[in-house]
Amino acid sequence: MKSPSPEIPEIIRTQRKSFGLEITPDGQLIVRAPKSASDAQIKAVIAQKAAWISNARARLAAQYPDRTPHTFAPGETFWYLGDQYSLHLVDHQRPLLDLDGSFHLAQQAHSQAKQIFIAWYREETRHITHKLIVDYTKRFNLKVNRVRITSARTRWGSCSGKGNLNFTYRLCMAPLEVIEYVVVHELAHLKVPNHSRTFWVEVAKMYPDYQKQRNWLKQHGYRLNLD
Ligand SMILES: [Zn+2]
Repeated sequence: MKSPSPEIPEIIRTQRKSFGLEITPDGQLIVRAPKSASDAQIKAVIAQKAAWISNARARLAAQYPDRTPHTFAPGETFWYLGDQYSLHLVDHQRPLLDLDGSFHLAQQAHSQAKQIFIAWYREETRHITHKLIVDYTKRFNLKVNRVRITSARTRWGSCSGKGNLNFTYRLCMAPLEVIEYVVVHELAHLKVPNHSRTFWVEVAKMYPDYQKQRNWLKQHGYRLNLD
């Protein structure tokens, strides 16, 4: 299990008045902080909670013993649309990476494997979310401003007050129905910015079977990464 340094947490600034710390199943530290918190304050909170952080990581490592970090060695598996495919290195190839029953990566690009996989996942996620957004915005008469594919480690998607949607490149590792739920979730935020009852009613209107997909993400989401 990888232990990311506690000095590089994902920081989420919210309306809350106090700090909240969380360790994701892959060991990433998330700090929820008040909007007004300074970087120095955040650092101080992390330093204060160092023992708690390392205990939480140790507990998680015991709970998820099957997590081995990716080294991009031949035979390692990578997720796409809810299935896992093994990696093969091939002699020369354009594009450098493609999926055809298994992932094929050009040998000469092996040292940049991670960046190449990220670029590949990014394009797939862009393509899949685009189709879903076009479909749902037409059906439910919604208006999206801009869509970005990010490298967020812990959030699958987000929606800004200006109608901009963000999705992490990791999203296309999930089954298509799960991706559909995440897209619908963010589209529902165009109508309701919080997670109130009204929000979930909107989600259910667009995607009645959402609870099953939400549970899948809660259960398996921590495995969908390139770490
Ligand atoms: Zn949400």
